[in-house]
Amino acid sequence: MAIYREKIFDELDKENLEKMVFDYQNLIEIAMSLSSNLEFDSLVESILYVCIGQMIVDKVAIFLNTNLDDNELNIYMSRGYIHDPDMKIGTKTVLFNYLYTNSGIIDSEKTRELMVIDPLTKDIYNKLLPEIIIPLKSKNSINGLIFLSKKMMGTPYNGQDMRFLEKIAKFASIAVENSRLYRMATLDRMTGLYVHHYFQERLSEELKRSDRTGTPLTLFMADIDHFKNINDTYGHPQGDIVLKGTASIIHQNIRGFDIPSRYGGEEFAIILTETDIKAAYIIAERLRKKIEETYYKLEDYDVNVTISIGLAQFDSKNDKNGKDLIVKADLALYEAKSQGRNRIVMYKKEDRGKNA
Ligand code: GH3
Ligand code: MG
Ligand code: MG
Repeated sequence: MAIYREKIFDELDKENLEKMVFDYQNLIEIAMSLSSNLEFDSLVESILYVCIGQMIVDKVAIFLNTNLDDNELNIYMSRGYIHDPDMKIGTKTVLFNYLYTNSGIIDSEKTRELMVIDPLTKDIYNKLLPEIIIPLKSKNSINGLIFLSKKMMGTPYNGQDMRFLEKIAKFASIAVENSRLYRMATLDRMTGLYVHHYFQERLSEELKRSDRTGTPLTLFMADIDHFKNINDTYGHPQGDIVLKGTASIIHQNIRGFDIPSRYGGEEFAIILTETDIKAAYIIAERLRKKIEETYYKLEDYDVNVTISIGLAQFDSKNDKNGKDLIVKADLALYEAKSQGRNRIVMYKKEDRGKNA
């Protein structure tokens, strides 16, 4: 029996068969990670590493539609290249035009032909020297491109490689599209921060976790001071610029695992996980200062705004739910406003009696 099996293996080319099994195991793993809650960046990274490992290449880059509003593809992640975050491929390029009418992976010769002819993509071609381009298609649009360099062994990409990569491309495009829809549903368009309902959902999840593990959690509520004046003096569109700028300062000055949201018009709420109120105060002070020190050019005037901040630490014995914690942070914020604005107030039990 063993001899017989050995014979079949021989006929099918043992090495090829083993590679096929390995390829399909990888595909199954990617498919599983797609349906799990894997973070998008890890997923993209794993797609890149599968390409590197399976094709044995040392350079790979992926362009994705990261901006929710247009179809431009920006370089999202790369391995082996010097990463230039400004690289982008627009919809008006020869490459895109070709992809609209032709599906499938673009081989080496075609890649060069399409990219070098076009001043919009020539530089990118020269920097990345892609051997093949794998388009990620979703419905009728192209939501990503994977660039692969030459194989390290110098051998060309063969039919089996192409079939494997086509399957990867299908998974990747589903993942990218899912992520785009998810981001559209959870991120506020203007500020890029999470929307209110997502904040509420995450707050109740994080409170449960904090309760279970005993790690501290602090809620940060902030509101821009006298923001109405900005709108009244410079107009609503200028107000929007200040609002976006403030949101961006918040985004850039917190940790990746904090959860920043646009709670309402010009109000922000941030869930600071694994943070007690003292540590939160340091973060809040840094934010308050940065916002105060940032000036915007509005109709030839240099204008800044300040924010008032209320902080409240979750108390698992006395806070029943997110609502209780929000009430406390809100009271502290109210206190910061009444003390003169541009300041941080930490919730204390006595505050409840004052305003509630
Ligand atoms: P306070 O210091 O008490 O917070 O004063 P304030 O003027 O900021 O307070 P108020 O809540 O009365 O005003 C908030 C203003 O924010 C009113 C509203 O028009 C403006 N606002 C809310 N959302 C937006 C937005 O998306 N863009 C712009 N430009 N303004 C907005
Ligand atoms: Mg305000
Ligand atoms: Mg307000």
